Amino acid sequence: MNKTLTININKSKHSKLETTNFDELSFGQIISDHMFVAEYKDGEWQDLRIEPYGPLQINPANATLHYGQSVFEGLKAYRNEAGEILVFRGDANQRRLNESAQRMCIPEVPEEIFMEGMRKLLEVDKDWIPKQAGCSLYIRPFIFAADDYLGIRPSNNYKFMILTSPVGNYYSKPVAVKVETQYARAVEGGTGAAKAAGNYAGSLFPARKAQKEGYDQLLWTDGKTHQYIEESGTMNVMFVIDGTLITAPISTGTILKGITRDSVLILAKEMGMPVEERFLTVSELEDALLSGRLEEAFGTGTAATVAFIRLINIHNKDYVLPEKAAGAFSDRVLKRLDDIKYGKVADDHGWIMKI
Ligand code: PMP
Repeated sequence: MNKTLTININKSKHSKLETTNFDELSFGQIISDHMFVAEYKDGEWQDLRIEPYGPLQINPANATLHYGQSVFEGLKAYRNEAGEILVFRGDANQRRLNESAQRMCIPEVPEEIFMEGMRKLLEVDKDWIPKQAGCSLYIRPFIFAADDYLGIRPSNNYKFMILTSPVGNYYSKPVAVKVETQYARAVEGGTGAAKAAGNYAGSLFPARKAQKEGYDQLLWTDGKTHQYIEESGTMNVMFVIDGTLITAPISTGTILKGITRDSVLILAKEMGMPVEERFLTVSELEDALLSGRLEEAFGTGTAATVAFIRLINIHNKDYVLPEKAAGAFSDRVLKRLDDIKYGKVADDHGWIMKI
């Protein structure tokens, strides 16, 4: 669409910038001054605008509140040393948002509206992108049903919005995870591959149970047999066994197609690391832990990039992972990814969009 896209901008009169402490940012707590909004009415996206971040008026009969017809994305903007704004793989997030939308019977957002809306919002709120090393601006695009109607059917009206939130230096502590064999995050034919709101609501109760037992996150297994490892919390999960990088395939539709996962797999191949996209069984994982063949385990996702796993609980038994060796793959790939995201090395893959 090269019809000129009109985005009306109404700037906030009261910036929160001065009262925000950029040295103490915790994930998702502070929302920048502005938000992007588009309305889906009469079969098309319209009324594109940027306005001060603030509450929405929602009728109590709003369909999203009742039936969760809602999808979202998460990506980040970084500042390079020259002060320029770099967005990592925004095109991949744009495509995934529409794949999720399709699964939830939500109209797709045209690429131009996503990209221009995000670009303009980042221009307006550029001062919200932290300058501190290792920090970034988290970007949260989302679409939700806007009909006021208590019957169950796809909504006729929707809102597409983008918020941004400055996030701190996310050097996550190594995590302890528990293999979940009672509850399931996703099943074949279900909605696991979509970034749909309800998937996250459904994961809260089992995750909280594990947290009460002292674990940070769950290692989800398949919903049918609970024998195959799928992903971990809101991250894909990878294992290095006997020098080979193993991660679950995305072909079953039960796993979110992580953009960090895809990036790590591409870089791993370039770094000469043998890669297997296949399901690892819980017993294979236990054998590898017992025989000392599990060298590394880590989650991959936008928030942490790479989150090292220090302990895995399998059938109520805790296994402590070996200390990471110098030159471990997860350390090297994290550094490589960070260097690309912050523009410290050439963008050979075309992953960076400059604003
Ligand atoms: N799995 C789930 C369930 C997630 O919510 C996320 C976060 N989007 C991921 C994996 C990692 O995806 P990405 O690397 O695109 O952030």
